[in-house]
Amino acid sequence: EMSVEKHVFEADVAKLLHLMVHSVYSDKNVFLRELISNAADACEKLRYEAIVAPQLLGSDPAPRITLTLDEENARLIVEDNGIGMSRDELVESLGTIARSGTRAFMERIEAAQGKDGAQLIGQFGVGFYSAFMVADNVDVVSRRAGSDTAWHWASDGKGSYTVSTADLADAPARGTRITLHLMDDAKTYTARWTVERIVKDHSGHVPVPISIVEKPGAETVQVADGTALWTKQKSEISKEDYTDFYRGVAGQYDEPALTIHFRAEGRHEYTALAFVPGSKPFDLFDPDRRGRMKLYVKRVFITDEAELLPRYLRFVRGLVDTADLPLNVSREMIQESPLLASIRKGLTNRVLTSIEKLAESEPESFAKLWENFGSVIKEGIYEDFERRIQLLALARFRTASDDTPRGLSNYVKEMKDGQSAIYYLTGDNLAQLQASPQLEGFRARGIEVLLLTDPVDSFWVTTAPDFEGKPFKSITQGAADLAGIAKQNSDAAASETSPAVAEFVTFAKATLGDAVSDVRTSDRLTESAVCLVAPEHGPDRQLQKMLQGAGR
Ligand code: ADP
Ligand code: MG
Repeated sequence: EMSVEKHVFEADVAKLLHLMVHSVYSDKNVFLRELISNAADACEKLRYEAIVAPQLLGSDPAPRITLTLDEENARLIVEDNGIGMSRDELVESLGTIARSGTRAFMERIEAAQGKDGAQLIGQFGVGFYSAFMVADNVDVVSRRAGSDTAWHWASDGKGSYTVSTADLADAPARGTRITLHLMDDAKTYTARWTVERIVKDHSGHVPVPISIVEKPGAETVQVADGTALWTKQKSEISKEDYTDFYRGVAGQYDEPALTIHFRAEGRHEYTALAFVPGSKPFDLFDPDRRGRMKLYVKRVFITDEAELLPRYLRFVRGLVDTADLPLNVSREMIQESPLLASIRKGLTNRVLTSIEKLAESEPESFAKLWENFGSVIKEGIYEDFERRIQLLALARFRTASDDTPRGLSNYVKEMKDGQSAIYYLTGDNLAQLQASPQLEGFRARGIEVLLLTDPVDSFWVTTAPDFEGKPFKSITQGAADLAGIAKQNSDAAASETSPAVAEFVTFAKATLGDAVSDVRTSDRLTESAVCLVAPEHGPDRQLQKMLQGAGR
């Protein structure tokens, strides 16, 4: 007697499913790309495990994905001979939301109050659960490589699912078979030309061959050959090819802002294909978020945990394929290998020079890239000592008088006579900074002040080196040194301290006592009477606030 366990979906899954089923989003095709991408991942995981355990491949070593169309029963079956899932893996993978990206995505959907939720699904892949956009029942039968038990997961996507053992005779010998019971308005997914077109458009570059079986029992027809895109010559690859590949590897549905494809030759040889996404992923600031560059050895996927790029480029998506590592390399060995260091260096340089070139040749595209990822790239100013000048030169900033972000070279070029520092003001948002009385004296003299609103800004400015010989200086800190710079529409107010002011300063010092370390006259104000400033050395006002907030 077979036992059937019933499970309730984790709350977030139930929410996501509800949203998918009720979304009016028209491009339901995305579900197929998601299932194919999972099938391909499963084949790659198996190839990797088989390096040390070749018996897992048995008599069926070639990876494959098969789509069986069953018009009569309104079913579409997606089957792979990859790694498969054990019972626990089924429950873990298809009952919870494991990806931090999906969780962040859910938060966005909730914040949007269902308004553009449908659009968000279209823009970002949401994985396996997208099957319920087209199916009212889904069966997953899976047998993990090397296991003599197969499992059956089934759900109508309405809050619960069941798990039971499956008859071995009805299960794939290895891998996973997903049967979609198509809804009435999704029967088109049993039409050969529809499915073939979607595969070619969206999954033509997965590194596993894909075949279609037109009806159960019919012969298999291969529709994609599993040639890895990155192994082709650049001249053979169209812009659309790159975009499709990017969408698969990044799990996004937009256009890449930058495509970087090169082969490194010399002491270390490798091929890299990397993309800067065209929009900001939801989980960019998730503390768990790591880079997701994949490492391949001779086209075998090894890991997406090797640190192929520094943290401040963690938004870059893509892969590196090399023949210079042994296939059975351990993850620890990778981390220590000189090859990895060389890839990291070469790839970082290529990514940064590509961004620099974009800044020169397409300032508008670059402005968008900076808007999306600048706050992450700036982490490099204090994390990557060697490249901090290069990163400072790349950075763009809003200033007190100009809403269009500008670079530091431009700032330095337009400095006023007698101005010796790059002035900045940090805070939580632009409106608050624009209203700061600290800016008055600077505005009156036509001196630009960088307005820094990203949390990371408070950190890098304190360690930043001089830029083109000019130090960074917080306008809330120390003396403002503005006396030597002429006011623009000066009404010749004496900058000498009048006796009345001197008397007031004495009074204020006596009254405030230990609450302040000093009271002095300042050139930084023109309209306001007083403001607080931080000492010359030590954290500026915003950093003090942040450190207090962090309980330090
Ligand atoms: P993601 O692919 O980003 O991890 P998905 O929702 O697409 O998210 O899939 C969730 C998990 O389910 C996968 O990470 C994988 O562990 C498992 N999974 C899904 N499909 C398959 C499959 N065909 N073979 C093996 N495991 C699978
Ligand atoms: Mg997936």
